[in-house]
Amino acid sequence: MSQKAEKAKAAPLPGCGSCEDSPATRRGLAARPQRATARTDGEGADAPLGIYAKTASAPVKGVALVWADTGEETGEVVSYERKGEGFKVHVNSQMARAERYALKAVVNKILPKSRTSKCMRWRVPKQSLQVLKSVEFNKAFYSGLQICASVWDCPICSGKITERRRVELTGAVAVAKGMGWQVMLLTCTVPHGLGDELSPMLDQMMNAWRKTTSTRKGAAVRAAICLEGTVRALEVTDGANGFHPHFHVLLFISSDVTTEAVQEHFRPLWQDACVKAGLPRPSDSHGVRVDDGTYAAAYASKWGIESELTKGHSKKGKHDSMTPWDLLRCYLATKCERSRKRFIIYSEAFKGRRQLYWSNGLKAKLGVGDLTDEELAHQEEERATLLSELTDDQWRAVLHTRSEAALLDVAENHPEAFDAFLEGVEGLARASR
Ligand SMILES: [Zn+2]
Repeated sequence: MSQKAEKAKAAPLPGCGSCEDSPATRRGLAARPQRATARTDGEGADAPLGIYAKTASAPVKGVALVWADTGEETGEVVSYERKGEGFKVHVNSQMARAERYALKAVVNKILPKSRTSKCMRWRVPKQSLQVLKSVEFNKAFYSGLQICASVWDCPICSGKITERRRVELTGAVAVAKGMGWQVMLLTCTVPHGLGDELSPMLDQMMNAWRKTTSTRKGAAVRAAICLEGTVRALEVTDGANGFHPHFHVLLFISSDVTTEAVQEHFRPLWQDACVKAGLPRPSDSHGVRVDDGTYAAAYASKWGIESELTKGHSKKGKHDSMTPWDLLRCYLATKCERSRKRFIIYSEAFKGRRQLYWSNGLKAKLGVGDLTDEELAHQEEERATLLSELTDDQWRAVLHTRSEAALLDVAENHPEAFDAFLEGVEGLARASR
């Protein structure tokens, strides 16, 4: 075995537990080439928030990569490199995009009738299919393809939507701080077990959250701490005890109340609300946690669908907490039947649910616009140049050879070779039919 192959073999990938040691798991993404564009901007000294895959990729000189979604203005996904106790950030957006397309191909396969399976594949009728390039960011993208705008099911759309939500949220936190407010991060969980059905549990949790803030006691707490508004994010992981849905809620507060006091206020509210909603009573130590402003700001600035505010690095080697994208990764690498089924259950339970909910009036207070996921997913760079128009045959060849991400890479890195690359893709498609 070559040295390179040996290194790839040594790199663990996320698995569901039943398949973690299969050789295919070890091959998978770990065998991809490293293409790390150096960027050390000081971020990521602490455990990164918003990690969606605790994927240790191929080691570079003994350093493992941890994939993370921190986002750039362009909707890029950023990877972290583990270094000692901390993390070094380096951007590797093209690899991340390739992974999004690879995971999207998994969704196409396991949810073949969904709108997502057509997303970024089917053309919009009577519209030309173009490859465009943003003037400002040098990012290439397709125009003229159908878009599903599913934040739960679609790795490509969710990348775009969550990135734009992140920008909104970061701006809102900055405005709040400018007004002298505090922003805290409240995390609410419920006890859960393998037998819990996900969809009813989500309904009960939504119900519980409403009861937390809308009851007379809740109103009293709101007034006591001067709560100006909340932004509630719904997240889920899958682990040994089944699905673990939870809320992360940003609390915008215009008093100088402490995090401890806020936690004391919210704990009984959440516990009572859970019981009223038919859920088990959360324990004193687990149900509610409030973290301070630094944490909240970091959360807002790195927020993404997959973000679970746990420390990815501390879970090394354990597959007890998989994000939905981890389930796709597991299936991609090992055809793991369990992961396929879990993703389908997750997808059905989350369909139509709001991922991010701003309490009434908060957007107006903080000067945030009101765009839907659909609108965000359809946004394109306004200042973009046309690189090429693709024919039906060319696009079919791109899809057939799974070259969607590679073609964009070429458009960004070597636009002069674009036509030759496309010809090669067509040749490859002809040869493999
Ligand atoms: Zn989509």
